Order: sequence, then structure tokens, then C-alpha cells
Amino acid sequence: MAKVPPTCWKCGYELSGLKVDDLCPECGCAVWSRPPIEQATQNASRSMTWGIVSLVLFFACLGPLAGLLAIPAVTYASKANTEVRQGLIDKSQISGAKTGLILGWITIGLSLLAVCAYAFVLVLTQYL
Ligand SMILES: [Zn+2]
Repeated sequence: MAKVPPTCWKCGYELSGLKVDDLCPECGCAVWSRPPIEQATQNASRSMTWGIVSLVLFFACLGPLAGLLAIPAVTYASKANTEVRQGLIDKSQISGAKTGLILGWITIGLSLLAVCAYAFVLVLTQYL
């Protein structure tokens, strides 16, 4: 397997040839510093929160509109997953992201179904 060139954890700039204590020429952050674990786990817990909120609001009052709230759940989960792929954090630290991702997609799926159902009813009432 080819060796992946080191990249800046913050902006993704390729850092081959730089020394350990250099600063990233692109964004100026310390090259080998890592984002605080809190930031990564924050994405995971934000994802879970949005996932739960969107699903609850779907049933409580919003219906298909809750699908919009599920989008950040999916976005934050994919951010957290990227951080796992980059080796910044361990999978076990973002278990909330998985929950958020699943709940987010459930809400999006339900919202789409609800929209289809509404459209179906609308069409039916045109002909009845
Ligand atoms: Zn950078």
C-alpha cells in the first residue's frame, strides 16, 4: 500500500518535507498538533442530538419538515467519521455519531415517505 503523504489536520494541505515543529504554510496551525479530542467527540454528540431531536419532532409536530433537522445529524456524523478515518480519534469515541447517523436517516426516510403519502392523498382527492 502506498504511503499517504502527511496532511494538515485542519485544512488538508499536503505537508511533505516540513519539519515536525513547522507551522502549516496554508493555515498556520501547528503541523503535528492534533485537534482536541473534545472537538471530535463534540461532532459525534451533536450528531446524536440532532438525530434524536429531528426524529422526536417528526412525530411531535413537524412531520416532513423534520427531515431538514436531520441533515445536521448526518453532516456531523460524517465529520466525526472523517476524523476516525484520519486516525485522529478512535471509533469507540464517536459511538454517538452512529446513533445520530441512523436516527438522521430514519427521519429523512420517514419525511420522504410522508411527503409521498401527502402527494398521494392530494392526487386521490382530485379524482374522488
Ligand atoms: Zn493547515
